Amino acid sequence: MLITRLKSAETLESLLKGQIFIINCHGCREVSFPTAEAEALEKALAEQGRVAGVITTDYICNPENLSVRLEKHADAIEAADTVLVLSCGVGVQTVSAMFPGKRVCAGCDTYPLPGFQGVTPLEVDCRQCGECYLNITGGICPITACSKSLVNGQCGGAKDGRCEVDHNMECGWERIYRRLAQVGRLDVLKCPVQIRNYATDKNVGE
Ligand code: SF4
Ligand code: SF4
Repeated sequence: MLITRLKSAETLESLLKGQIFIINCHGCREVSFPTAEAEALEKALAEQGRVAGVITTDYICNPENLSVRLEKHADAIEAADTVLVLSCGVGVQTVSAMFPGKRVCAGCDTYPLPGFQGVTPLEVDCRQCGECYLNITGGICPITACSKSLVNGQCGGAKDGRCEVDHNMECGWERIYRRLAQVGRLDVLKCPVQIRNYATDKNVGE
């Protein structure tokens, strides 16, 4: 199981630019969603006239389902400056891949809980590290896309774009660099060094 918790108000404010389209994923049975906090955030943004649209759905980790559900919101998403995704890390990665040219923000951190883990139909994964980095990595998870789970950039060992640990995979940080370049957000690589808090990487119930 896993828990999604809203990021701090300060962090959210720094992420949310202009008009916001909100995607709430009430997920699978294995996810605990911060319903009250998400509703309060949506209300506050609506009072500021900043909500371009909202969809509350489930299983956004399934891109085929999600693209059908988003069809009627296409204009609102196109007009929005930011797509805010309130879900586990898999959901955010799915939406980021679907809108590679769009500013897609992870509004939640994802924490592990003991028990059954949901099964996603995707290659992308979330290791529930408790401190989601997707907002500074262009929506590609550095914990699962990099063999060393590096959070501050490439190790320097990649050759021809392949990971030095596993030649069968692309270097995750080369993918992250390309995605950030695509959305014009290479500036985020200049942000202060990330210090990973491994205490958040533990089961919440421990
Ligand atoms: S950085 Fe990766 S492992 Fe951590 S919460 Fe985000 S998607 Fe999950
Ligand atoms: S080559 Fe790339 S993916 Fe592999 S460990 Fe180094 S930074 Fe991570």
